Amino acid sequence: MADPLLFNPRTYDPAHFDPETRRLLRATVDWFEERGKRKLIEDYRSRAWLADFLAFSAKEGLFATFLTPASAADGHEDKRWDTARIAALNEIFGFYGLDYWYAWQVTILGLGPVWQSDNAAARARAAELLAQGEVFAFGLSEKAHGADIYSTDMLLEPDGDGGFRASGSKYYIGNGNAAGLVSVFGRRTDVEGPDGYVFFAADSRHEAYHLVKNVVDSSKYVSEFRLENYPVAAEDVLHTGRAAFDAALNTVNVGKFNLCTGAIGICEHAMYEAVTHAHNRILYGRPVTAFPHVRRELTDAYVRLVGMKLFSDRAVDYFRSAGPDDRRYLLFNPMTKMKVTTEGEKVIDLMWDVIAAKGFEKDTYFAQAATEIRGLPKLEGTVHVNLALILKFMGNHLLNPAEYAPVPTRLDAADDEFLFRQGPARGLGSIRFHDWRGAYDAYAHVPNVGRFREQADALCEFVTTAAPDEEQSRDLDLLLAIGQLFALVVHGQLILEQARLTGLEEDVLDELFAVLVRDFSAHAVELHGKDSATEAQQSWALGAVRRPVVDDARSARVWERVEALSGAYEMAP
Ligand SMILES: Cc1cc2nc3c(=O)[nH]c(=O)nc-3n(C[C@H](O)[C@H](O)[C@H](O)COP(=O)(O)OP(=O)(O)OC[C@H]3O[C@@H](n4cnc5c(N)ncnc54)[C@H](O)[C@@H]3O)c2cc1C
Repeated sequence: MADPLLFNPRTYDPAHFDPETRRLLRATVDWFEERGKRKLIEDYRSRAWLADFLAFSAKEGLFATFLTPASAADGHEDKRWDTARIAALNEIFGFYGLDYWYAWQVTILGLGPVWQSDNAAARARAAELLAQGEVFAFGLSEKAHGADIYSTDMLLEPDGDGGFRASGSKYYIGNGNAAGLVSVFGRRTDVEGPDGYVFFAADSRHEAYHLVKNVVDSSKYVSEFRLENYPVAAEDVLHTGRAAFDAALNTVNVGKFNLCTGAIGICEHAMYEAVTHAHNRILYGRPVTAFPHVRRELTDAYVRLVGMKLFSDRAVDYFRSAGPDDRRYLLFNPMTKMKVTTEGEKVIDLMWDVIAAKGFEKDTYFAQAATEIRGLPKLEGTVHVNLALILKFMGNHLLNPAEYAPVPTRLDAADDEFLFRQGPARGLGSIRFHDWRGAYDAYAHVPNVGRFREQADALCEFVTTAAPDEEQSRDLDLLLAIGQLFALVVHGQLILEQARLTGLEEDVLDELFAVLVRDFSAHAVELHGKDSATEAQQSWALGAVRRPVVDDARSARVWERVEALSGAYEMAP
């Protein structure tokens, strides 16, 4: 029987969506299965461009249906921006290959500045290009500047006619080889400071657009391109001034939400392979899975993966219910980005320790999973950048709750139009949250939830009594260690909320929280060793270390679920 918590193509039927969404998701799975594992891996190894897949998407109207918001859909009833089904598709792409996911992901990023723009002509053009099956690109990063997007050297010189001539280069730009429309970020030469920023739409087939190279060795086309005197007409301008900067950040907000479900798909496929291999490999007359440490590693991997799924599914609800008066998604979003994707790395590491040499073999999906899982924490802002962002919310989240109406599960066929009118990206420190304790109280009877709650309460005490002083608040090394502790509390919160909404088995929840207790202890010890930690902080840190509640019978029951994954899925050859 298929595990109800994991995606399995053999039994996948997304009946909770409307008929066309259900058809498209299933058709995508079928396309990959029909293509087969051998071809999928061969394309990965030979770095083939994704032309066949994009032709399938164009024929079915996959990207066009999923990525055209209702406001640009010209009455087409299936087109809307629906984060729940976008998340479902991310998982499928991650499951079959991150290269497919990436072409779709950067299409989403490229569309961000367009769907946020008032420029009706550009919006209509984008909708038409999508309908024709074109992909898009997002030209923000530059070779010299990395995360420092303030320092763009893409320069726009006014042409005297309301337009510009753009010159400069961009680096690490996905789909830059093929995009029908590239959203490019730059600044005017005649205006100083933030008022000079411009987002504009470029065409990768224009003669003044020069594709330099693919900067990575992969089917992903992560391009360097150069514009030389590229004519930017007034109708190509998407945003100007501070709004252009906000459009960049708000686009990344929408885009980076896709990383968590991409990571989940990768881990799921790898897990079927890993458990099947380990369970069928006989050493010293017994299956490898008879070793207690192997059971522990695979069980940890499984519950970490379940945690990734629960957190991400619940974050979808907050994302879709967001509005000007409810910006809680701005915390849960960087959490999906840095926490869920780094959990993905741990899941793969745990499994790779077990399957060892098998994980290198060229006919496995695992070999690419082990490589590709590393990328997700580094895209759309690094772990550091997202953790620093998360820290802005810590005081209000832990200590200063506010009342909100409950947020229900959001699988309805709504258009998430707020995502394209998020407004100024400022004021994060004043965002309030519902009380995190409610989710924990509901499961106080689960031993390891109770144990973890002691650690969460201790963190509140830390923030109240031993918070970093002014000098320490410039020590990002120390702050990030605190951020990891806070991130665990938020991770646990949404996991519990989703567990409640879906009736998760308490054995699994307890086993998962045993892992979170150990993680909190490990991060506390890390904080204890930080250069600038004060004596009070050091003693707090050691005092927050806890041992999870051990229950052999529970662990054995969860192990049975893991063991049952052996042979549960193998991709069609
Ligand atoms: C495969 C791939 C595809 C990509 N696709 C695109 C794309 O389509 N479009 C696009 O525009 N970009 C794209 N990027 C760029 C990506 O967004 C950048 O990698 C990212 O912005 C970080 O830049 P960097 O890697 O150069 O690191 P740097 O900015 O050079 O950072 C160096 C170090 O400083 C730390 N750091 C920097 N700023 C801060 C801060 N404020 N707080 C704390 N720590 C900080 C970082 O965490 C890192 O450890 C892609 C990158 C890759 C690898």
